[in-house]
Amino acid sequence: MFCSGCQNNTLHRQKRRIWQRLWLRAIYKCGRCGQREAIYWLDLSDIFTLTACCPRCGNTRLKRYSRLDHIEGLYTAPHSHWQRFLGAPLYYCFPCRLQFYDFRKPHEKRGA
Ligand SMILES: [Zn+2]
Ligand SMILES: [Zn+2]
Repeated sequence: MFCSGCQNNTLHRQKRRIWQRLWLRAIYKCGRCGQREAIYWLDLSDIFTLTACCPRCGNTRLKRYSRLDHIEGLYTAPHSHWQRFLGAPLYYCFPCRLQFYDFRKPHEKRGA
């Protein structure tokens, strides 16, 4: 990982504040110019694809659940809880046996 200010690669990990943990995975500070680099839970590329996919394996063939199944696993990253709180639909990845909340649309078959 490189600093976007000076291309230096000695970035030091910074502590996040509690409220920053909701959307930041990590913060790094450049040892040379002091520039901060933030790593988000969701990559912007993830959001722009706008297709719900499994956070663990990237599978887009998801099953939609209307309610949480307590036998199956639930993805517990802060942004998943956050989306649940905001009313995002619940999806299930069959290969991972993982449930998660995602605002993005499910993958649709074309021409069906
Ligand atoms: Zn720098
Ligand atoms: Zn998966």
